[in-house]
Amino acid sequence: VVAKASSSPSHPLTNNVFPCSIIDAQKGDPLAFESYWKQMNDECTVVIKGWELMSYYSDLSNMCWFMLPELKDVIERIHHLVGNAVTKDRYIVVGNGSSQLFQASLFALSPLDVPDHPVNVVAAAPYYSEYKNVINILNSRMFQWGDDAAVYDKNEPYIEVVTSPNNPDGTLREPVVNSVAEGKLIHDLAYYWPQFTPITHEADDDVMLFTFSKCTGHAGSRIGWAIVKDIEVAKKMATFVQSSSMGVSKESQTRAAKIIGVVCDGYQNFKSSESELFFEYSKRLVKERWEKFREAVEQSMVFTVTKYPKAYCNFTNEISETYPSFAWLKCEGNEDGHNYLRKLNICSREGERFGADSKFVRVSMLGMDDDFNELVKRLSNVKIE
Ligand code: PMP
Repeated sequence: VVAKASSSPSHPLTNNVFPCSIIDAQKGDPLAFESYWKQMNDECTVVIKGWELMSYYSDLSNMCWFMLPELKDVIERIHHLVGNAVTKDRYIVVGNGSSQLFQASLFALSPLDVPDHPVNVVAAAPYYSEYKNVINILNSRMFQWGDDAAVYDKNEPYIEVVTSPNNPDGTLREPVVNSVAEGKLIHDLAYYWPQFTPITHEADDDVMLFTFSKCTGHAGSRIGWAIVKDIEVAKKMATFVQSSSMGVSKESQTRAAKIIGVVCDGYQNFKSSESELFFEYSKRLVKERWEKFREAVEQSMVFTVTKYPKAYCNFTNEISETYPSFAWLKCEGNEDGHNYLRKLNICSREGERFGADSKFVRVSMLGMDDDFNELVKRLSNVKIE
């Protein structure tokens, strides 16, 4: 809970967050881009009449019959524009966030012939904490959580989740399992967008997951998509979405299609707009935040933060670093990182939740401006005891 101060100009604070309030930096809510969409104003407004979008069905000619054709078109268009994934001759499946498509891909990739022997799902630590959570909640007979991919050496089939750039630590990843057993891969490319990392190649993996939540920041619409090579896998994923939620909200699909279309139009000059283009804006914002944040962390001498390599970005045509949407901090003192931040009234997510040490913590870099500025201020004021 962040207590907001009065917006009265006579208020003594330089921002709207009280110095003693709790900063919630533990969630991955990408609110930082709100200011961009505010300034776009009516360009992204969608009006839906009471009689529209009533049917379950969107396109009976597509195996993903609940996907609106206009959403499919803009997904292909934005990948073509950014150059971050191959979509030609691939199958697209839409889901309620990429979270649902992660489950759909586990369902589609688990071997059916050995139902009493669940396939192990692994990811290199530190891994995105929700993979383990959702697998444990589902308690399936088809798959089970197999923990850190880097130490997986069982001679049993496995599914490896490759998250690149990675949540929580922002590193660029490749598969790491070293086993003779048959393995399948899920590439979670939620953050493979130019504001977070240089676009070095067109990803062309068997199952790739993307999300509207991280691409433009619209997490509340709950739209994700999978790009899949094998039609049988894609069909099973669509069957999963059909069985678990009978498709995906058409209101959300319409909004996503509109907003992604506006991003593409900006670049393709279909409409003249005075405003900065989305990826330029979002990259500048994330980069500026990282620069401030690094300076504060270095001043504190309590925490250290990962340094990222530079690479040429084919989209922006410049050399740049990765600027992840989370900072993965290591507490260099004897203390546990989460407890240390707690004393500063900063809520973070504990390293253990990602399969790492308690010295590590994850903090969000994409909160609202006032919260982020207060976070940086508090970090820069701490000194090792
Ligand atoms: N994958 C990764 C790596 C994520 O960080 C997140 C969200 N934090 C998701 C998937 C889930 O995204 P969605 O909102 O599309 O369910």
